[in-house]
Amino acid sequence: MGQTAVSIGANVFQFFTRNPRGGAAKPVDLADVQAFAEYAQAVGIGPILAHAPYTLNAASADPAVRAFAEKVFLDDMKRLAATPGALYNFHPGSHVGQGAEKGIELVAEILVQALAHAGPTTILLETMAGKGSELGRDFAELRAIIDRAEAALPPACPKARLGVCFDTCHVWDGGYDIVDDLDGVLDEFDRVVGLDRLKAVHLNDSMNAKGARKDRHEKIGKGRIGLEAFVRIVNNPILGRLPFYLETPCDLQGYKEEIALLKGLVK
Ligand code: FE
Ligand code: FE
Ligand code: ZN
Repeated sequence: MGQTAVSIGANVFQFFTRNPRGGAAKPVDLADVQAFAEYAQAVGIGPILAHAPYTLNAASADPAVRAFAEKVFLDDMKRLAATPGALYNFHPGSHVGQGAEKGIELVAEILVQALAHAGPTTILLETMAGKGSELGRDFAELRAIIDRAEAALPPACPKARLGVCFDTCHVWDGGYDIVDDLDGVLDEFDRVVGLDRLKAVHLNDSMNAKGARKDRHEKIGKGRIGLEAFVRIVNNPILGRLPFYLETPCDLQGYKEEIALLKGLVK
């Protein structure tokens, strides 16, 4: 994966820890992990971001679904321990009619287990578009999950291991105006969650209007967020120092072109 990233001009990348729809992961090949670490160091690859399967729902009403989420979390923490400094991103989940408060309680419960086994990995909650009963559209929900999980942590666990991944398509679809008021949105994020929690950005345009709660990613500059807004996003002093990960509907050549386009926007 490292060589592929370098071949398209990237210096960070995101990957799924297993089939994005869930299922078993390949065993960790420690020699392979070591070879990657040396390569990453040599060519200057920054933090790698592992994405949990998006079918995982830690807020489900079904105990079997939550047990599966916990199993995947713990297994992924074990695997990522081989790559110190990695980031692990997950979708907080959907409360499916139980109400946001109950959902927050259930996610926090599993997060405590994951954090206790996180070792050198930072776990990130992703800002969500708010499709259906999805948690994490509202910054306040992210804060509530973080507070609840951290309050339940045994005292020996370090507290700096929970962060947030800012997905531009999701935040926009969730109703935050990152096009005309990026500074205002970041101020609000700071007030509600705290900018020190912000560890990564998913850089995506959106097919839909602000507040649409649809979550359909578009290529950079081809959607409703638009290129002008991305000029401000990549040059923003807060966002600009974070690693950016593209999740646009592109093939490898398309990503190469988008990376070149984005680099060209940096002032
Ligand atoms: Fe995601
Ligand atoms: Fe995302
Ligand atoms: Zn999305």
